[in-house]
Amino acid sequence: MSDIQALVWEAGAPVLRTRPAPRPQQPDDVVVRVAATGICGTDRGIVLGEFPALEGVVLGHEASGVVEAVGPGVSMVRVGERVVINPTYYCGRCRPCRRGMAAHCVAKDGREIGVDRDGTMAGAVVIPERFACPLPDSMSLRHATMVEPLACVLTNVQAAAPRVDDRVLVVGGGPIGTLCALVFAHRGARITLLERDTARTALARDILPGAVDVVTSEGTGLGLPAGVLPEGPDVLVDTTGVLLEEALETVAVGGTIVVMGEREHARADIALRSLVTRGVRVVGAGPYPPHLFEAALDLAGELPVDRLVTDEFPLDGYRDAFAALGARPSPAERTAGYTAMKVLLVSDPELALR
Ligand SMILES: [Zn+2]
Ligand SMILES: [Zn+2]
Repeated sequence: MSDIQALVWEAGAPVLRTRPAPRPQQPDDVVVRVAATGICGTDRGIVLGEFPALEGVVLGHEASGVVEAVGPGVSMVRVGERVVINPTYYCGRCRPCRRGMAAHCVAKDGREIGVDRDGTMAGAVVIPERFACPLPDSMSLRHATMVEPLACVLTNVQAAAPRVDDRVLVVGGGPIGTLCALVFAHRGARITLLERDTARTALARDILPGAVDVVTSEGTGLGLPAGVLPEGPDVLVDTTGVLLEEALETVAVGGTIVVMGEREHARADIALRSLVTRGVRVVGAGPYPPHLFEAALDLAGELPVDRLVTDEFPLDGYRDAFAALGARPSPAERTAGYTAMKVLLVSDPELALR
């Protein structure tokens, strides 16, 4: 492989650069030729200056591709194999890892793909082989880009631990909220999805099965329209990550609130007594452990997750790609609205179809 194109974080903005093609650095490294990368809330946060990334790092982490080269110690994957990348590093040796909580591995610094280690918005990426997960023949590389966000969602659904008769409210109709609704619906729960942005409400309605009630948020607070879930939801998943106070006023007695999303500055002023008297559980799930990434890979084969992909751009169309998510690289030309659900940056259009 000759030089590659890569979307690099430089001086507070993403910029397309030409770089030498990566090679295996360690015996267990594989080089993956990237098909496509989904743009996630984290990438959007980096571009908007709300989430820190290392200067000079290649962005992107929700990707699939084909193994292009392998180090001498690689035994689990072979050249030519189609894979999805698990970008969440774990060492397997620290105490959280040993206790089955690899998502909370303490050795992540310098190893988070697309944040402080080179990511996937590029022609190719190098990763240790255990983070390259082979795809079933039936799954396209495009479909596989949704496995990583699905793994995030499964982790939070598991933390919610819903009962079979729970009424579930998902707050926020972006890709994560829409995937949440899809997973809860797949489990047979009664779901309401609440979204404020009218374009995204329409997209979510279009994508989700009829069993999911998609409603537009009105007024202040959560803005649940009158008559919707009058007795409160038993499970409330806040994918905005900033609405805990409002969620506590809305959730049913004995209910569970799952706080999703990493909002650096989000705070809440809550009446602690109401947790006790109303028996409410507030949980955070953290990133996914490796076994839930594998579960997401299995489940992705059963769910129409690729329907969330509304827009695809080549790497050099990254400005338009971020703009479709209301995030223009320059604050002066920033827009507020979304026109897309999931946006893919396509590194290799031929591969992405496979
Ligand atoms: Zn992500
Ligand atoms: Zn660890």
